[in-house]
Amino acid sequence: METNQYCPEGNREQIQTRLLILGGGPAGFSAAIYAARAELTPILLTGTALGGQAATTDMIENYPGFPEGINGLELGTLFQQQAERFGAQVVYDSITSVDFSEIPFRLCTYDKEYLAESVVISTGARPNHLNVPGETELTGKGVSYCGTCDGWFFRGKHVVVVGGGDSALEEALFLTRYASKVTVVHRRDSLRAGKLLQKRAFGNPKIEFIWNTVLTEIVGAGEVKQVALKNLETCDERLFDTDGVFIFIGHTPNVGIFGGQLALDENGYIQIDRYMRTSIPGVFAGGEVADHRYRQVITSSGMGAAAAIEAIKFLEEKETEKGETEP
Ligand SMILES: Cc1cc2nc3c(=O)[nH]c(=O)nc-3n(C[C@H](O)[C@H](O)[C@H](O)COP(=O)(O)OP(=O)(O)OC[C@H]3O[C@@H](n4cnc5c(N)ncnc54)[C@H](O)[C@@H]3O)c2cc1C
Repeated sequence: METNQYCPEGNREQIQTRLLILGGGPAGFSAAIYAARAELTPILLTGTALGGQAATTDMIENYPGFPEGINGLELGTLFQQQAERFGAQVVYDSITSVDFSEIPFRLCTYDKEYLAESVVISTGARPNHLNVPGETELTGKGVSYCGTCDGWFFRGKHVVVVGGGDSALEEALFLTRYASKVTVVHRRDSLRAGKLLQKRAFGNPKIEFIWNTVLTEIVGAGEVKQVALKNLETCDERLFDTDGVFIFIGHTPNVGIFGGQLALDENGYIQIDRYMRTSIPGVFAGGEVADHRYRQVITSSGMGAAAAIEAIKFLEEKETEKGETEP
């Protein structure tokens, strides 16, 4: 288990708050809107990615209320404006370590210490990258990490899927709804995915497999045109035409700063119950940091809102208890 060295050095300005929200993505801002409307004046720390992962995509077409779709960064800005309108304080800073051993919880940034009666964690997750040339430049221009989000843009086109686990096959099968052909490129000669998924994928006439092969480059100017493939057995290299590349080689939840103080689920995500409660009373989590399954703006927002509602209840109950015990 990781150990968490809390606030290693230096004097820090102390800031007290009833609710601290970690993360400036859909979950964090949704939590902030609910908590601010309950007049808790929450403080939300955005981390380095204002708007979260959603802000990295050009067009979000499956978030209700925007029939023409909306740019991800623009959606994040609207979330922020809505939270600030009700009094949430948005701070561009990152938490580096936490101490959840007692209330108030103590959370450190580089030069500040927050003392919080309750916390909503919505630090999200990040899709694992291949780290090959062309990947970053062409993300959103043919390179994607989400079939549900971007499959629709590939109607009648040919796409490459990278990966061999459950999510790679689930997404490959999903993409056959839109794409004319889906080529799964896998580094081994067999799949890790479950047998039923494998059966469905092998039986789907739109899916073909390229085995023992890795993708070494994504080629294109402004849009994906080709991928460079290398056969690991023969070391042969070749260029392969495609309109898109979907990379499903896992996600990593942003949980490192909690240093083993919270229970995690079997996939390494924060373990929560149906009320968004973590293993520590008063600490709630919502969005992708606690959701390995749905990973969407709407589901993350919903979880963030639910986490805030539970935090509000937690604080109210604490107030009531205090009132009953005080003379
Ligand atoms: C390229 C791409 C395209 C996508 N397209 C769509 C789409 O079309 N439709 C859809 O529904 N979904 C889409 N998704 C998925 C969607 O973006 C995510 O499900 C959603 O953003 C998750 O929200 P979240 O708030 O839980 O976490 P995130 O969006 O991951 O936000 C996490 C936040 O936590 C902050 N943070 C991290 N560490 C710290 C720290 N130590 N201290 C303080 N803050 C911290 C980050 O800076 C960030 O602001 C896409 C994802 C990607 C990557």
